[in-house]
Amino acid sequence: MTQQGFDTEYDYDLFVIGAGSGGVRAARMSAGFGAKVAIAESRYLGGTCVNVGCVPKKLFSYAAHYREDFNDAKGFGWSSAVEPIDWPTLRDNKTREIERLNGIYGNLLSNAGVELLNGHASFVDAHTLSVDGKKYTAKRILIAVGGWPFIPDIPGREFAISSNEVFYLDTLPKHAVVVGGGYIATEFAGILHGLGVEVDQIYRRDLFLRGFDMEMREQLAEEMRNKGVKLRFNENVTAIEKEGDRYRLSLENGESMLTDQVLYATGRKPLLEGLGLENTGVRLNDKGYIAVDETFQTSEPSVYAVGDVTGGMELTPVALAEGMNLAKRLYKGESKLVDYNFIPTAIFSQPNLATVGYSEEEARDKFTDIAVFTSRFTHLKHTLSGNKAKTLLKLIVDKASDKVVGAHMLGDEAGEIIQGLAVAIKAGATKADFDSTIGIHPTVAEEFVTMREASR
Ligand code: NDP
Repeated sequence: MTQQGFDTEYDYDLFVIGAGSGGVRAARMSAGFGAKVAIAESRYLGGTCVNVGCVPKKLFSYAAHYREDFNDAKGFGWSSAVEPIDWPTLRDNKTREIERLNGIYGNLLSNAGVELLNGHASFVDAHTLSVDGKKYTAKRILIAVGGWPFIPDIPGREFAISSNEVFYLDTLPKHAVVVGGGYIATEFAGILHGLGVEVDQIYRRDLFLRGFDMEMREQLAEEMRNKGVKLRFNENVTAIEKEGDRYRLSLENGESMLTDQVLYATGRKPLLEGLGLENTGVRLNDKGYIAVDETFQTSEPSVYAVGDVTGGMELTPVALAEGMNLAKRLYKGESKLVDYNFIPTAIFSQPNLATVGYSEEEARDKFTDIAVFTSRFTHLKHTLSGNKAKTLLKLIVDKASDKVVGAHMLGDEAGEIIQGLAVAIKAGATKADFDSTIGIHPTVAEEFVTMREASR
């Protein structure tokens, strides 16, 4: 043993499986603290977020918004006809940017001194991995393999695409059905619609985005319907058949519908196939994710796991925080745990919905007495654009402590605004702190510091 956590008995101090957000962060930081680190990746550098997730999705989200922006511009004196989008330009420019990012990830790893192995790693035992037939040993092994889209087992599921394929379509369909009511389905219903596709979003319960604040979900549904997205709630697809160039979907209500593309966004599963976990003592939890303790250690002491494969909040910044926390614990001697309280999040729907802290429903359960402040208004820009969209802001206050315990926003750049508020709320800001903060005028965000009368 040379130093804390370092050992010469093995090829590496740390071997990371999966070069996504959590794995790359853990590998780079551990190497920075002096560990000898290797990382194996069989697909693409940067993982889901960089390749088929956050980054290309946000680029598409910007692209989709232009259509509305062109229309909004007319009230300001600009005349611009909205042409159909040139999809190959968007798709290929996006792909070029992703390839550039893949290169940057490669450089980040090599500059940090991490050895990159392009291949599939599987466990031989708790300290040994095989990568394309070659064996490597490590004192510690980190599983950061992420997840993979899940499509339920219905007849014709092979005709559906997932978020993996939607970024690379040959052509944009005229009509698409998006199945699911979570982040990805709701984001892509908006993106495809914005790009000029007619969209039906089908969700099995009565209102999408289960778990988010009810009022925000209702308002988002209204805004999406006003824009022309067909939301079909309490509905599900039972089978898909090919009919010429199109697909016929059988629905639970007995009806059927034709479409050009079916996108399933019905959650993700951990990517454990071929990992050789049976050769270790790593146990899964009851939902099939790798079970870890609060230090990311699995039931096999030399094996750790972070990010989506552990089934926590499937968010890139969470995986980054976990990867960083693990590196600091193992190779810098720090003992602080990741704080999962008040994690802000945004759905890049059209309009965006962002949130930090408790929904009104959760807060009513958790606190004895709450005050709810809401503000629903027309964005100054839309007084001239004629766009009927409403912005909705909401604060939830625990009356006993006066602390703001929830902030929610539906409207342009909601993610940008809630990120700032999240710092204040995490630091324990009270409603009195919000009230004594002077606004920036005229902005949408100033409403958060001028909400005087509780709505309920
Ligand atoms: P989610 O877990 O968010 O949503 C899955 C949706 O599919 C739910 O509405 C669920 O319904 C529905 N569903 C599940 N199983 C079935 C089924 N058998 N038949 C019909 N519907 C079904 O998953 P996503 O795929 O949208 O995204 C995966 C994760 O990625 C998200 O949870 C999020 O953490 C992350 N992500 C984050 C983003 C961001 O930060 N902006 C963007 C995209 C993804 P029900 O409500 O009934 O369970």
